[in-house]
This record gives sequence, structure tokens and C-alpha cells, in this order.
Amino acid sequence: TKNEWIDMDAVLREIMPMIASEALLNGITVNWGMETKLPLVMADRELLKQVFLNICKNGIEAMSKGGTLTVKSHISEESEGRKLFIDMEDTGPGIPNAMLDKIFDPFVTTKTNGTGLGLSVCQRIMHDFGGLIRATTTENGACFTAILPC
Ligand code: ADP
Ligand code: MG
Repeated sequence: TKNEWIDMDAVLREIMPMIASEALLNGITVNWGMETKLPLVMADRELLKQVFLNICKNGIEAMSKGGTLTVKSHISEESEGRKLFIDMEDTGPGIPNAMLDKIFDPFVTTKTNGTGLGLSVCQRIMHDFGGLIRATTTENGACFTAILPC
């Protein structure tokens, strides 16, 4: 993989129109709550775009009756260093606790035409960049957080 310092603002700006049109087609509102200036991360820009698109697409697919997709970010100083957190939250049904550990395994899908490969590939990409994806269920739906050193 190609590793270079990449501007996360630019990465997100490039995928915004794709997410916005997919959301519009499905009656979903998108809330962008990004920090005004995101840090640089050491990664591959095309692979990162793939990760965010996949997670947002899952969120949109989970909201068959419409809803809201919220994308927001924050930076945190951890003992291991500075980290960028990007939350992608939906207002769908959420993920049952028994499924939370399994959804990152390849071929795990609850969709008739799903491959179950999206999250496993995304998790591997994030690991390659020293990061990870965390899935949680919120009171409104599901939240996927992409965490990267920055
Ligand atoms: P696929 O989308 O092909 O099913 P993924 O690896 O992208 O494969 O996702 C695996 C499974 O995780 C999905 O089939 C679904 O059951 C669950 N999942 C992923 N994202 C969400 C979400 N935002 N809300 C609820 N369930 C989700
Ligand atoms: Mg998917």
C-alpha cells in the first residue's frame, strides 16, 4: 500500500457527494459535524475513501425507512499519541450484542445479497495504518468509529 501524509479534510470532501446522493435516493438526511481542520494521517487515500464509503453505505442500507446519518470527528490525546476519531452514526435498528463481535469476520452478512466482506476488509485496511474500526450500538442506532493515529 501507498503510505503518505494525507489531508483528511480532502478525503472526506471527495466522498461527501457520493454519500449525499446515496442518502438522498434513500430519504436519508446527512449531518456533517466535522472539525473545521482535520489533521494529517499516514495512510493511502484511496483505501481510506473505501473504508468511509463502505461504513456510510452500511449505515444507509440499515435505514430502510429513512433516518439520519451523522458524520463527526474529534481528536484525542492518548497515552500512545494523538488520535483522530471519525464517528459515523445511523438511526437504524442497531446491532444485536451477539453480532457485534462477528460483523468484522469475513462472509458475515444479514443481507440477502450481501457479501459480508465490507467490514472485514475495512478493519484490515485500518489495521495496516495503525488504526481500527469500533462498532457500538447507541440509543438511536449503530455507531461505527474509525480511529487513526495522527
Ligand atoms: P454486507 O454489507 O455485505 O452485509 P459488511 O461486512 O459490510 O457486509 O457488514 C456485515 C453485517 O454487519 C451486515 O450484514 C449487517 O448485519 C451488519 N451491519 C453493518 N453495518 C451496520 C449498521 N450500520 N447497522 C446495522 N447493522 C450493520
Ligand atoms: Mg457492507
